[in-house]
Amino acid sequence: MFIKKGYIQLAVNGGIGFGAKLNPRQLVVLGEYLEEDSEIELTTLQQLIVQIPEEEVESVKRKFEEVGLACYKVGNYVKSLRTCNFCKGEEAEGMPVAKELNRRIAGQEVPFTLKPAYTGCPIGCGEPLINDIGVMKDQDTYELYIGGYSKGRDIKSGKLVKSNLVPDELYDLVDKILVIYRENGKKREKFYRFVDRFGIEQIKEELNIV
Ligand code: SF4
Repeated sequence: MFIKKGYIQLAVNGGIGFGAKLNPRQLVVLGEYLEEDSEIELTTLQQLIVQIPEEEVESVKRKFEEVGLACYKVGNYVKSLRTCNFCKGEEAEGMPVAKELNRRIAGQEVPFTLKPAYTGCPIGCGEPLINDIGVMKDQDTYELYIGGYSKGRDIKSGKLVKSNLVPDELYDLVDKILVIYRENGKKREKFYRFVDRFGIEQIKEELNIV
């Protein structure tokens, strides 16, 4: 998307819920604060990319957030968590854990844009194994995968870091993995390439996983 001079991009969505949805009020507010000739980009990451005049960003973000729109940075940051539709229910599929994970990691600075995904059961509608960081709930615990990639001929499945995690262990491991990537990743090195170069075994060693 061409970025107009004096504007910055914001990634916007309806937050984590039952499916990637927007309600009419949110659409009206989006329309109110975007200029007539502006474009909205719909990404594969359940986000809309909009452009806002730099000096209005904070006030527009407040207006968006008042109607439940979540705003995220665009660039070399952790993206908002892509999720499944939680078809079996909020608690059963761990929506509070997905929300907390998203709150902790979305917007963290990293060497290259990082896509995390969450899925509420092993059917895997949120595609956790082909995203940079993938979380899969299985019964009462969580599995954590890293290094998946979904594009072109480089497509690959994420590698299991650890299974049988409780939420606090999951948050802690994801935090530490982001620190390892920040400290050891090269500038603009994609996460899946970093996992290949640095090595899953080395990452596990740094995480004290045997
Ligand atoms: S991953 Fe499981 S809980 Fe989530 S939408 Fe698919 S079937 Fe439903």
